[in-house]
Amino acid sequence: MSERAAPPGRLTLVHDLVNTVDLATDADALDTPEGRAPFGIAEDTVDDARELRESLRAALLAHAGHPAHRPVVPLGELLARAPLVVTVDPADGSAALAPVDEGPLLSRVAAAVAEAVTAGTWQRLKACESPDCHWAYYDRSPAGRGRWCSMQVCGARAKMRRYRAKQG
Ligand SMILES: [Zn+2]
Repeated sequence: MSERAAPPGRLTLVHDLVNTVDLATDADALDTPEGRAPFGIAEDTVDDARELRESLRAALLAHAGHPAHRPVVPLGELLARAPLVVTVDPADGSAALAPVDEGPLLSRVAAAVAEAVTAGTWQRLKACESPDCHWAYYDRSPAGRGRWCSMQVCGARAKMRRYRAKQG
């Protein structure tokens, strides 16, 4: 659980999707229509959404230098199924990457990742290193070396574990 502020721009979509499941209790918001609604996920695509969620989590763990929490389909393989095009605004000539098909969750996630890459924020969206957490959080630390979703919760827990290990 995180008291940190939401990440910038459309990264919020990735952040919120990754945090729909509590790995410690297996409580999964995508099990319910209310939990799926904010993401526009239909019941028959929920397995794909869960696969995407764990591929994203593995990428966010990699951002913090950690191996994947479990075997996943590489995120790049999934995103390759949602092609993006360059759009140009005729009014000011500004360009952006947009999904060919705006609808599916995968397309919206691909666009969010592309936007974050352009903004330089993608690498800062990370997953907490605590194995019973792996919650997504946006690392606002100046050096970008944050390790936990919350210093108060997971950081303190990790310190306690190290302390206990030392006491043996
Ligand atoms: Zn955590």
